[in-house]
Amino acid sequence: MSQLTAGALKGLATALRQQQKPLTEHWMQLVFGDADVEHSDDLTYRQLADHIPRIFDEICLVLESQDMDSQEHAIEQDARQHGKWRWQQGYRIDELVRELDLLRQVLLAAIGDYAQNHPSFDRKREERARLITDQALSFVTLTSIREAVGERDRKLDEYTRMLERANQELTLRQRLISDLYETRMQVARRVAHDLRNFLNVFATALQLIGRSQAKNDRALALAKRQVADMATLVDEMGEYSKVLGDDSILTVERFDLAELFDELTQLCQASAAAKGLALKGRVDPALSMITSNRLKMKQIALNLLSNAIKYTATGEVELAMVTSGAKHWTLRVSDTGMGISEEDRERVFEEFERAASDEIPGTGLGLAIVKELARELHGVIRFESYKGRGSVFEVRFPLVLEIDGAASVI
Ligand code: ADP
Repeated sequence: MSQLTAGALKGLATALRQQQKPLTEHWMQLVFGDADVEHSDDLTYRQLADHIPRIFDEICLVLESQDMDSQEHAIEQDARQHGKWRWQQGYRIDELVRELDLLRQVLLAAIGDYAQNHPSFDRKREERARLITDQALSFVTLTSIREAVGERDRKLDEYTRMLERANQELTLRQRLISDLYETRMQVARRVAHDLRNFLNVFATALQLIGRSQAKNDRALALAKRQVADMATLVDEMGEYSKVLGDDSILTVERFDLAELFDELTQLCQASAAAKGLALKGRVDPALSMITSNRLKMKQIALNLLSNAIKYTATGEVELAMVTSGAKHWTLRVSDTGMGISEEDRERVFEEFERAASDEIPGTGLGLAIVKELARELHGVIRFESYKGRGSVFEVRFPLVLEIDGAASVI
């Protein structure tokens, strides 16, 4: 092949250049009609043509000079641009390969036609022309694929970096949240502990005063009431810090809801009756055995019931346990009491937040305890309350509490 003269393919190159427009159009039709190049459907003719006319020109120059090296740089530049754009246009690698293969077929067919119409264009020249075209197009394909893959890798790197950043931020936030949680727990524990010590001393002092001769009955009664209130606060803080700091594995057991219901109504009967309130109850007959933590469930219900009784002056308090879909049930405590105004609804679940006047004793911890325990038992709290028109607190629980890790059923 090397015996060919320098200008042996010049005539072919000129003829191809003259046919550039119809050949490019023919190629575009092939690409649009090819089911394997799906993404070409999204392109306009101009977008599809892209760098192809320049590459076409460069191949003609290579044919003319029979010297690939002279055009290598220009072809490389255009092929890279082509690969980059096709990547941005959403092409897959196989579509890119297929599209350039169609260009190869069009050019080789044109070379075949030219050879047929020009008897002086002998077999040797035709083979040489085919070889050069093949080489040039392989180079174009390889370079554009490399560029497209490079673009893809760059994007992947970028996404990976973004993910890493998001991950770091998340870890930091998680740490902050758990630190905060830890601090709340420690404060609650320490205060409860210190107050309990102080109360013990104070209560003993009161007993001694009570036994002495020179006592002031009113002052003594007041002091005793203060001690009792403080004891409630300390107990609730102790309970809350226990709930927050309870990192033991949650145990679940199967128990009868109707039995828990009886126990709860018995426990609250006296305090409701003391205020002249009717304590009503209702258990859905379809509900019987459930799987959860009985003690924590009882604690939630008792907190809600004692609030209902405490914040209701007249009327009734109702405890209901009803089915809620195939896999859940709902604990509902409603009352005809003072209700909670809209602006207080969010904050009453935060620790030490109260919406009632100081005349009604309370620590502001009951609903915080309910919230924490409900979270543990996968319960979803919902409540409705209107100032002066009573409240309805609902917690929707799973009938069977699935716990991660070693679920111990006792
Ligand atoms: P506490 O009752 O000790 O104040 P909680 O955390 O149990 O603390 O309740 C927070 C606040 O929510 C109460 O101070 C009260 O204002 C309001 N609240 C809770 N339950 C009821 C209810 N059933 N009716 C009206 N107000 C309620």
